[in-house]
Amino acid sequence: MIYNYTPMKPTFHVEIVNNHFEDPVLYVRAMYQKTVFLFDLGNIDALGPGKINTISSIFVTHMHIDHFIGFDTVLRYLLKRDLPLQMYGPEGIINCVEGKLKGYTWNLIKDYPFKLEVFEISEYNIKHVSFYASESFIPIIRQNITFKNPIVQENAFKINTIVLSHQIPVLAYSLEEDMHININKAKLIDKGLEVGPWLNTLKSMIRQGLPNDTVLDVNDKQCYLGDLIDICIITRGQKICYVMDVSPTEYNIRLLKEFVSGADVLYCEAFFSDEESERAKDRNHLTARIAGQIAREAGVKTLKVMHFSQKYKSNPDLLIKEAEDAFKGIL
Ligand SMILES: [Zn+2]
Ligand SMILES: [Zn+2]
Repeated sequence: MIYNYTPMKPTFHVEIVNNHFEDPVLYVRAMYQKTVFLFDLGNIDALGPGKINTISSIFVTHMHIDHFIGFDTVLRYLLKRDLPLQMYGPEGIINCVEGKLKGYTWNLIKDYPFKLEVFEISEYNIKHVSFYASESFIPIIRQNITFKNPIVQENAFKINTIVLSHQIPVLAYSLEEDMHININKAKLIDKGLEVGPWLNTLKSMIRQGLPNDTVLDVNDKQCYLGDLIDICIITRGQKICYVMDVSPTEYNIRLLKEFVSGADVLYCEAFFSDEESERAKDRNHLTARIAGQIAREAGVKTLKVMHFSQKYKSNPDLLIKEAEDAFKGIL
């Protein structure tokens, strides 16, 4: 039973790390889960060591310097961390990671626990290579996987990707919650139940689609899952999309409209204004107007534009307004 309306409490807490003219980076924390995603890996100094330490997976669109220079910062802060780091990116990312790691001498890290798993995504397959501190980061080649969405499926959400072009291959990503579950406090009290960690177990059982006669421990009392479902308000899951550095070709735009369809929030580049559409083609970037048109035609609820060319530094509102107008259909 899934009702189609906007979730009351968003599951994904999203932080745009830098301003419009700095490197585009999105820091996304999944509420109630210990999962933190980073979209793109430009300069991430603004996050600080505390937040960088929480990152579980990084999704890189492409390895131009403004999207990848943060690699060293991540490496430095996570070198002594037990939790492995997953990194996803387009064709070439394994070479780029290997090249970065080869830039240092690693004779003193045998006891360090850090493990980096890199997944290189192309249209048909995913290459997987491991880099472990204990092995001095010498690449360990794993078996290829056939490309299939979602590329990540966790307990409550999934990540999809699509290969587009920016003269070079570039990936766009979506992060989607399977379903959104809120607790109806009034009904909880009606049943004489108290809030507790069991609510997370209940949500997880519903997500797994367990049968109604599954028994759940509710503060030392045994209850059937079927008797508790009516304290849950189940809605469609949240969907956010991240799109940077895409050539404004008909092919890319058509694929993007489908990919970001129905997103709650689309984070999209708006590098040039419509007046510079020829330059946008030459430089393989979207204009603010195209970003707005894609969002509008894909039925996106909110559009957040990012990643502006330095030439608009004195007038960023020009790009913001152009994207907004196109999104509203008045341009
Ligand atoms: Zn860029
Ligand atoms: Zn680029």
